[in-house]
Parts: sequence; structure tokens; C-alpha cells
Amino acid sequence: MTFSTDRRSLFKLGLAGAAGVVAAPQIMTRAAYAQTEMAGPIPPDVNRFMLGGFEVTTISDGLRPGEGPHPIFGQDQSAEAVAELMEENFLPSDRFVNGFTPTLVNTGSELVLFDTGLGEGAREAGMGKLRERLATAGYSPEQVTIVVLTHFHGDHISGMTEGNRPAFPNARYFAGQAEYDFWTASDRMSGPTEQNAQLVETKVKPFAERTTFLADGDEVVAGVSAMLAPGHTPGHMIFLLESEGKRLALTADTANHYVASLQRPDWHVQYDADKQMAADSRKKVFDMIATDRIPFIGYHMPFPSVGFIEKMDVGYRFVPVTYQFLV
Ligand SMILES: [Zn+2]
Repeated sequence: MTFSTDRRSLFKLGLAGAAGVVAAPQIMTRAAYAQTEMAGPIPPDVNRFMLGGFEVTTISDGLRPGEGPHPIFGQDQSAEAVAELMEENFLPSDRFVNGFTPTLVNTGSELVLFDTGLGEGAREAGMGKLRERLATAGYSPEQVTIVVLTHFHGDHISGMTEGNRPAFPNARYFAGQAEYDFWTASDRMSGPTEQNAQLVETKVKPFAERTTFLADGDEVVAGVSAMLAPGHTPGHMIFLLESEGKRLALTADTANHYVASLQRPDWHVQYDADKQMAADSRKKVFDMIATDRIPFIGYHMPFPSVGFIEKMDVGYRFVPVTYQFLV
């Protein structure tokens, strides 16, 4: 009540000032309120919390609404089966919004960026927002000391360059050896892998000399280790963070829809290169997270993309983080 009274009187003052009169008639104030333009939705786009001595920032690179989730998710299922699961979970059955969430971790000595978003090519469509939102979060691209790539799909590597120059000019890079070997093999430059291999050629290969290639279990920096979770791509990696006894997993694209991929981990996903291997990795990774009760960040989970995993009779349930990191 107090708030609205204050706003109202402030508004009247402003109006009076503009009109050059002492007091505006009450009716004008009412009319002005009625004419307030619709401001549009404001999706959250930056979120920061502490994990022990690490500061973790998730940044939305943008949202992409489209048709689905079927047949992208549940490719081997009927449209009805997918629709039923969506409706059970209060989601539309014929539309879905995909989100993209790079994560920045300040370890105290390094500023580590995990994945780089869709880049400048997606800006016209309202994505590729990482750079702009880095600034919102108080960082400049020059401050990033390490860029880690979880895998080489376009929504993770396209932000590596900006205007044909390195987007993070002071960074060194980490990426999976298996992922690099797969995408840079000469026979990837034709057939179904051609388009993505071309992208790797321009977005990843030029940085090879400054890249440390990771195998399963390797450490990026103290408290950040890599784990191979293949299937989505042949060398797809997740990252396990630990600081002062606090743990967090960055599961990247192990699961890409918070309902379809988690509640039905065996359902085939169009984006997964090897459907069975991807399902096996999903179950291995989310069993681990559920058992250890550790929080995780998923690149395509609903923003701020941080949650816990509850194991169900079939599959898992995504439990979004609320105030766990604020206490
Ligand atoms: Zn992705």
C-alpha cells in the first residue's frame, strides 16, 4: 500500500513538473496509468551463487521457442506418449522453449567459462547474449582466463569467436581429446557430420595450439575435473566441481529436456549421436548425482539451470534449486 501511494505521488510530481503546473487533475493521473504500455516478459538471465570458495554464475545465452518436444525428444515414441508426459508435467505438448546456459566459475585464481553459447550469428534471433550478459554480471571477455568446451555442437562453440577474432582473447582452452579427434577426422567433412565439422574448423581448430586436451578424469584446475559422458557426442564431457567440501556437477548436454530426458532417460533424442550410449550416460550420471545428492547445472535445464535430482521408480525428477545456496 505504502509503495503504491509513493509511486502515485511521485508520478503526480513528475507530471506536474512536465506540465509546468503545481498539481495535475486526478483524472489525468488515472488516464496515464491506464495507458501504461505492456512491458513484455522479463526472463531471468544471470544468476550467481557461492560454492565453497568458488563463485558460480550461470548466464542465459538466450531462449529458442519452437515446435516440440516430440519428435526431438522421444524420437522412438508416439507423439501421444510424449504429449501425455508433457501434460502431466504442466507443459504444452506441441511447443517447447530451449534455453542455453554457459557457466562462469571464479575459482579465486582463474575465471573459467564453460561453453560459449550461440555467438554473434544468433543475435538477430535474440540469442548469443553471453557477451552482453557477462557485462551485466560484471565481467569483461578479457577477464576470462580459461574456456572449457564440454562438446563441439554449435550452441556450445559458436561464441568462441567474435568478428572472426577470439572472443576471449586472454583465455587458454580445455576440450575433450576424443571430441576433438572425432570432429577433426577428415571423413567428418561430408555426410551428416559435415555442417558441424565445418563449424569446428572455424570455431575450435584455430585454438588447438592453446588447447589442453582432456581424457576421462583429468583436472582442468584444482577442484575442477572432467568426466567422459559420451553418447550425445562421441567425446561429450561433464565437469565435477569441488571447493571447501561443496560439490557441483556441470552435466552439459547429458540431459537436454528437464522432463523428457530425466523422467524418461531411455527415450531417444534426435540430438544424441548414439542414442543407446547417451541413455546409458544419462543413467550413470544422474544415478551418481541422485545418490550423492549434489546439485548440478545442465546447459539446457530451465534457467537458472541449477537443480537436484530425485530418483523415481522410472527415471528422475528435476528439483530446481531455490534458496539452498543463499543460506
Ligand atoms: Zn547443447
